[in-house]
Amino acid sequence: EGVGRFRNFPAVDFTSEAERLAFPEAIGRLRPSLGAMVPLFINGRDVETGDILESYNPADPAEIIGRVCQAGVAEVDEAIEAASSAYLSWRDVAPEERAAVLLRAAGYLKDNIHDFSALQVLEVGKQWDQAHADVAEAIDFLEYYAREMIRLGKPRRMGQAPGEMSQLFYQGKGVAAVIAPWNFPLAISVGMVAAAIVCGCPVVYKPAGSSSCIGRGLVEMWKAAGLPDGVFNYTPGRGSVIGDHLVDHPAVSVIAFTGSMEVGLRIQERAAKVQPGQQQCKRVIAEMGGKNATIIDDDADLDEAVLGVLYAAFGFQGQKCSACSRVIVLDAIYDKFVARLTEAANSVRLGPAEDPANYMGPVVDRSAQKNVLRYVEIAGQEGNVLVRREVSDELKAGGGCYVPLTIVDGINREHRIAQEEVFGPVLAVMRARDMSEALDIANSTRFALTGAIYSRSPANLERAYREFRVGNLYLNKPSVGALVERHAFGGFKMSGVGSKSGGPDYLLQFLDPRLVCENT
Ligand code: GLU
Repeated sequence: EGVGRFRNFPAVDFTSEAERLAFPEAIGRLRPSLGAMVPLFINGRDVETGDILESYNPADPAEIIGRVCQAGVAEVDEAIEAASSAYLSWRDVAPEERAAVLLRAAGYLKDNIHDFSALQVLEVGKQWDQAHADVAEAIDFLEYYAREMIRLGKPRRMGQAPGEMSQLFYQGKGVAAVIAPWNFPLAISVGMVAAAIVCGCPVVYKPAGSSSCIGRGLVEMWKAAGLPDGVFNYTPGRGSVIGDHLVDHPAVSVIAFTGSMEVGLRIQERAAKVQPGQQQCKRVIAEMGGKNATIIDDDADLDEAVLGVLYAAFGFQGQKCSACSRVIVLDAIYDKFVARLTEAANSVRLGPAEDPANYMGPVVDRSAQKNVLRYVEIAGQEGNVLVRREVSDELKAGGGCYVPLTIVDGINREHRIAQEEVFGPVLAVMRARDMSEALDIANSTRFALTGAIYSRSPANLERAYREFRVGNLYLNKPSVGALVERHAFGGFKMSGVGSKSGGPDYLLQFLDPRLVCENT
């Protein structure tokens, strides 16, 4: 009773001195404890293994954030067994009680928001305000899914036929494997995990390698919330060792994944194959990539458009599936917009996220750096380089995972840089004759995740509403930064399968409906 209506957790307010000081203080508190061993967590117990992966600060790879024990096949089996037996009791715990656990978890994150944010600044190089927003989004998922479960948890009377009482209700599908990305390292992990758990599905959670210490935070969170043993299991591990095994396991009923298209398609293919002993069809929820466009109409407010595109393309180094990687500019305003964008991109400061004056920092790790550098080269071959900004020689010498902030123009829809997801700070500028051509270019990829348009013309905004076919379209707003509920998030085509996270259909994917009809 009385949980009140859902509200988004407020964004950080840096005009308050207390808020400003809280970040360096939290980083200072965190530093002395860095580099510790990070165990797995299976059936309510810490488990150490002999295989260790070091997670490091991308701005200074010599700084080890944690020495993370890696699960092998044996540990994954153990975790799935624990989850399978926890399922038998957890599925029958009242929905309101499961929701109450999420609300307590949200309380724990609220009390510790600066510590959770500080860890993101150091482990994945996320800027302060965005790290805070990520923790806030995790809180929102907990608060929202708790309320959603309370809504769905009430049995529904079906029909009004005299002489019978027919009721529809939901039951958790079974063990959920959650395979999470590093880019929204707390929010997306907590979102997928909390959805499964509140539905009655125990979880085996594999965080991404480069954000496994942040992932360990879920263990502390669920402990503080009083979740029973076995319902949440933390098994970081190498994808090449445990990824397929987790997906193929006959006792897994749901696989919730966020990451690349390649891995998402592989999961769907493998999950479709029935393994010996398997008793159920697997459900796959996969949020995959994007090649998101922003259209600049010839009457756009350029002050807004330039800042919006800059942030959507280069915020967190462009490492968002929602990032703007194509800006499609109408001919009449092309030169003006491109000059202003270039000027803005040349004026932002580059360097570690730990210094809040820096707009853009390093990408998440060495392998991301290698991948992005390859695309910077491709972009340079396919188009004309407008901006290619590197960090100072001093920072470069420090060995951080830096890549240049890159803008190219002269790109058309056949180019690789117009079709392939880079997941880094590389923006392609494309020219369109008119709005029809702009929309046509916008829709000309395999993906359909986010999009944006800057325009003052009601007719063109109306047209974009209908014809710009993506999961999340923003009119006169950047294409990133979706808020739970208000901007329920997710795409279609090759951007994924399943319904929007933070939206009203999300939990249904973890549930089997049951109907009981009594002859009265
Ligand atoms: N929800 C995030 C946003 O709107 C993107 C999520 C992702 O990159 O996976 O910016």
